[in-house]
Amino acid sequence: MKMKKEDKLYSPKVMTDILKKYKFRFSKSLGQNFLIDGNVLDQICDGISLGKDDEVIEIGPGIGTLTRELAERAKSVVAIELDKKLLPILDDTLSDYDNVKIINEDVLKIDLNKLIEENFENKKVKLAANLPYYITTPIIMSLLESKVNLKSIIVMVQKEVAERMTSAPGKKAYGSLSIAVGYYSKAEIVTIVPKNAFIPKPNVDSAVIKLDIYDKPKVKVKDEELFFKVTKGAFRLRRKTLLNSLSSSDVGISKEDIKNILNKLDIKENIRGEKLTIEEFALLADNIYDLKKN
Ligand code: SAM
Repeated sequence: MKMKKEDKLYSPKVMTDILKKYKFRFSKSLGQNFLIDGNVLDQICDGISLGKDDEVIEIGPGIGTLTRELAERAKSVVAIELDKKLLPILDDTLSDYDNVKIINEDVLKIDLNKLIEENFENKKVKLAANLPYYITTPIIMSLLESKVNLKSIIVMVQKEVAERMTSAPGKKAYGSLSIAVGYYSKAEIVTIVPKNAFIPKPNVDSAVIKLDIYDKPKVKVKDEELFFKVTKGAFRLRRKTLLNSLSSSDVGISKEDIKNILNKLDIKENIRGEKLTIEEFALLADNIYDLKKN
């Protein structure tokens, strides 16, 4: 008998039964830790204000726990799952939902813009993901950089990564990742998720973060590549001043020139990178750009 809508797939008993039924074995390398906390599922859907007009892409549906909640609330869901062994399970757990399509592919190899064009007539969509943590940051950055047609992203990440992605100037976790994420989106932590919210328990605590993607980047810069080089260079030597860190980085600018620019921008010479706002980084990068051009 197939699973019904009213069955609570996130209940450990229901989940364990279905895993047994299909003799499923977890794969560590695919980061298979499945959510067993119904509150977190609600917080994910609420976090992106999911409604009946929304089209959703889910990456890494697992056995379909979040997928069912997304399908319940949204217009339609396209879910990308790499593990073939999960397909019969998804067929069972999603049998009551006719607004879900499963694509058996590796998200690292798929062209998401094409997928949106083919499935959603190029409409802006919302994206939800719970993936192996070692591929999550590169995937988020590649989604943001390649300007895929997304309204928002809600994603489970390692707690420390969530703090770095959402951090503000002056905070311990603030760095080049905070700036890169903040350039493209307004980022916030939706909820912290403890290890025991998953089967099997992972080694680290997690957090759900939401990124509301800007139509245009938060700051306008003359050269994006140089801007990101400058922000990375500024945080290269964590406890050093911006001046020391940047002048010994691959930006290729002398201490004297940085000093002049900082003076011009009315920024203290002994400032550390972690104190600078994204707007100040944009000004700094634009001034370096002008200097290099002349
Ligand atoms: N969303 C489910 C949940 O919350 O219970 C499962 C999350 S589990 C942490 C990660 C899922 O991503 C697994 O189902 C895994 O097979 C899948 N996955 C791992 N690497 C993938 C990839 N490169 N492309 C697509 N799916 C992948």
